[in-house]
Amino acid sequence: MLIDSFGRHIRYLRVSVTDRCNLFCNYCRLPNETLLPNNRELLSFAELVRLLRIFLALGIERIRLTGGEPLLRRNLVGLVQEIAQLPGLQELALTTNALLLERFAGALKKAGLQRVNISLDSLNPETFDHITQRHLLRPDLLPTRSEQLGLATVLAGIEAALQAGLHPVKINMVVMRGINDLEIPDMVQFAQQRGLLLRFIETMPVGVAGQEMASLFMPAEEILARIQSHFARQLIPVSGEHGSGPARYFRLVDSAADVGVISARSRHFCDTCNRMRLTSKGALVYCLGRSDRMDLKEHLRAGASDAEIQNIIYSAIALKPKQHEFEEKELYRPSNRMSALGG
Ligand code: SAM
Repeated sequence: MLIDSFGRHIRYLRVSVTDRCNLFCNYCRLPNETLLPNNRELLSFAELVRLLRIFLALGIERIRLTGGEPLLRRNLVGLVQEIAQLPGLQELALTTNALLLERFAGALKKAGLQRVNISLDSLNPETFDHITQRHLLRPDLLPTRSEQLGLATVLAGIEAALQAGLHPVKINMVVMRGINDLEIPDMVQFAQQRGLLLRFIETMPVGVAGQEMASLFMPAEEILARIQSHFARQLIPVSGEHGSGPARYFRLVDSAADVGVISARSRHFCDTCNRMRLTSKGALVYCLGRSDRMDLKEHLRAGASDAEIQNIIYSAIALKPKQHEFEEKELYRPSNRMSALGG
């Protein structure tokens, strides 16, 4: 069992499989952030699966694949198949922008993926393009031309996830004042109509892009108030129905619409944090809001045994901080990019 210095039980590992992304979301990644991959730097599938086997033996129960855009990693379906068979795993999920999901949803489900979280910040094609800055994209980072369509492609990806049975399909919307906040009610309606579980995320000041978006921050309480006022109905808290993550969920009275908020800034949930992050280059990151990390790849490649890796993981868990330090200048460091930490 993995228990940190503050008595928190660590059961959840977010695993980034690539830093590359096919979007440049304004709160996540800057145009000049070069993400040209050097394959030697990435954990190979064999290294990653070995590490995950060790983590699961230590008590990790849930794994989420993320990135960058995880569907850009070649043969992700094969990786999912290998991970899904590892002993001790209770849940395998994926976070994606869904641009490539129409193509892969069925195969991922067959390979053992249980569910997906999809990032979608706008239902308006122009706002979608404004936030995701697709014009900055290098065409060679897209597998085919047909995958350059943007919002329509994401919506098709969402349908494919529903069809494939990757339930519940959760939608994550990062709310930015003056950019997409007027779409909050539309998103609630869209999610209700399509049977999606919508979560609103407060912008986090992680990395330079996240810092630049700090002025557009909208607190969760204001998001909830907007929903209540628009639908002229109360939101009542619901608990225990939608997973054990950091989201707080609410139900609109007299409707089947549940919504979640992830309020990392206005009401942080560090006391119940149950997660760690593994970067695509094999570093274990203790906290999204801090830059300290432990390089596990170096030990793997130096020939460490499983028992030695276990001990290194134990010592890393002991370094997990009590809470994030979102307001600290240290976060300007380029190493703290959301696109490398996996969100
Ligand atoms: N490419 C995938 C996707 O778009 O879902 C996975 C990686 S993305 C970094 C994971 C999540 O991080 C997304 O839901 C995104 O909205 C969130 N994220 C990135 N930067 C953020 C920021 N500054 N504040 C809040 N959420 C952020």
